[in-house]
Amino acid sequence: MQQPARRVPRDPHLTAEAVDRRWQALPGQAESRAPLLDTRTLEEMACYQHSVENFIGCVRIPVGVAGPLRVNGLFAQGDYYVPLATTEAALVASYSRGAQLISEAGGCAAMLVNQGLSRAPGFAFRTLEEAGAFVVWALSHLEDFRREAEATTRHGHLIDLRVTVEGNHVYLNFEFTTGDASGQNMVTIATEAICKYILAHSAVRPCYSFVEANLSGDKKASAQSFLSVRGKKVTAEAILPADLVERRLRATPQQMSDYWRMSAIGGVLSGTLGVHGHYANGLAALYIACGQDAACVAESAVGITRVEVTDRGELYAAVTLPNLTVGTVGGGTGLPSQRACLQILGLDGPGKAAALAEVCAGLCLAGELSIIGALCAGEFAQAHRRLARGDGRHGAMKGTTDA
Ligand code: NAP
Repeated sequence: MQQPARRVPRDPHLTAEAVDRRWQALPGQAESRAPLLDTRTLEEMACYQHSVENFIGCVRIPVGVAGPLRVNGLFAQGDYYVPLATTEAALVASYSRGAQLISEAGGCAAMLVNQGLSRAPGFAFRTLEEAGAFVVWALSHLEDFRREAEATTRHGHLIDLRVTVEGNHVYLNFEFTTGDASGQNMVTIATEAICKYILAHSAVRPCYSFVEANLSGDKKASAQSFLSVRGKKVTAEAILPADLVERRLRATPQQMSDYWRMSAIGGVLSGTLGVHGHYANGLAALYIACGQDAACVAESAVGITRVEVTDRGELYAAVTLPNLTVGTVGGGTGLPSQRACLQILGLDGPGKAAALAEVCAGLCLAGELSIIGALCAGEFAQAHRRLARGDGRHGAMKGTTDA
């Protein structure tokens, strides 16, 4: 059997020498090195020590700004300019159009309705009887679990324990609030401390156990999305006068409502979790720009969009997202360009995570309004043709202009 190619040299310290050794091991480095490892990256690279392993440089992603987006939330209050990192043409233009429409109508209401992030260790026993005895023991030790967990963190608090029994397997779903951090590391570390306590003190010893047994929904869209919360659950709504909708989107509230009803059925027919147009577009772009974990878009881009005509003929639009995993401290939020993007929003640092979640919901609402408008006005393909292909032959790009 042919030997595998040379291993990537590993070095726990992020030094210029270690980076250089890694590049030496890569084929085709002469062409690739310069775009990934420019002077600025070389100067700043120490800041990535706890962000990535086997560092070789940075990929540059263009950032556009959408807005202003007026949010009249419980926590987010004001006009926000939202940085979005993407290489998908038409995305920023579309969100910006929706944001401006919302702002012109006086803004969207937004409400953080729940928060909590879970880790779900799993425990295997010989019999169902043992599993049952373990559950009884576990439920009577919540205070001990809380003490062990909260010894690992100043901002993480254990708020709930849900139990799932499947045969001789027991899943304990520990739910935490995580302050202004998105909290995935925080809850993992805290839950590991609980697991150690359980293994040392449980009346019934499990045959084996795992700190996460895949019931928490981490980085997966799951059926429990709408029954509980993962991160932050936020809802946002806007009520838009008909003439404003027609002027800015070239569609009537009735057309928008007709489209929404048909697309909701389309979502049901295709088996999507929830019903919405494209939350992932705005969330992925905002998550990348603002130092959030982009992979969490897998669970965050789940929710419900609803569009109706009010009895006064206005357009009512609402979005509800139960799984926003966002934070303004920790993770990638302190990296230079990511922090700069949070600063553009005015949402960097402690005390801002709830507002960031409400802005995310407002952004998703903006994106839904804009895409529904473009589809109703027959401008969807045209917008992409012009902005993505640079093709001006097909007339003025109406679908996504900042009208
Ligand atoms: P973190 O950077 O690991 O932890 C947050 C840190 O900020 C903690 O040390 C916390 O201290 C501190 N902190 C200071 N002020 C705070 C405040 N006001 N509110 C909350 N914390 C504050 O980040 P994390 O949010 O726990 O985890 C996010 C990262 O986890 C992301 O990078 C994501 O990619 C990654 N991730 C991990 C897993 C996993 O299973 N481990 C899964 C998915 C994603 P205290 O703890 O003392 O409060």
